[in-house]
Amino acid sequence: MTGSIVLFGPPGAGKGTQAEIIVELTGKPQVSTGDMLRLAVSKGTDLGLEAKEYMESGMLVPDQVIIGLIEDRLSHSDASKGVLFDGFPRTIPQAEALSKIAQVEAVIAIEVPDEDIVNRIVGRRMDPENGEIYHISFKPPPPEVEGRLIQRKDDNEGTVRKRLSAYHEQTKPLGEWYREKGILTSVDGSGTIKEVSHSISMAVQNL
Ligand code: AMP
Repeated sequence: MTGSIVLFGPPGAGKGTQAEIIVELTGKPQVSTGDMLRLAVSKGTDLGLEAKEYMESGMLVPDQVIIGLIEDRLSHSDASKGVLFDGFPRTIPQAEALSKIAQVEAVIAIEVPDEDIVNRIVGRRMDPENGEIYHISFKPPPPEVEGRLIQRKDDNEGTVRKRLSAYHEQTKPLGEWYREKGILTSVDGSGTIKEVSHSISMAVQNL
């Protein structure tokens, strides 16, 4: 398959965690706009300065900024055989822009009820040394790394609720848009990480 795959779903659905299995199965590089923006914020670049306030308040970064970031990323040689998009596109204008510069072959939507999302996000922690993601109840960190774990600034309950409403208003309609194009596969994301990984690998193998 030479096209790209989109991993679609609400914040906290486990897109970042589940991206690993798709990368393993397809060899496509993961392109996460959230990770790219966080890197820009931590480096204090112009992009980071522009994106920071939107991210910390749970709002989407403007489409033109995101589209520019993706155009640049897709010009790298490792993207020539398609990539795995994680957290992009998040609006219909982003998807329309994407359709002009890349071929999206499949969209895998991870479905998780809203009630589960807040618990998942508020318990999420990251190891700054290697980017590994843990959850205080669902994927507890080994004791030796516990002391250095950090929590994303936007992983608090107030911001999560704003991110969820941005998802419902701006991103969810995109699922329908892709469904109408006949390329959307839904996966139940409410089980354990292992169960969801299993469903995702089945979906990827059936592509
Ligand atoms: P994520 O790690 O994917 O949950 O993204 C964290 C934050 O980065 C989001 O809440 C947005 O503020 C911003 N962001 C990431 N990807 C996008 C995108 N495709 N469009 C707009 N904003 C984005």
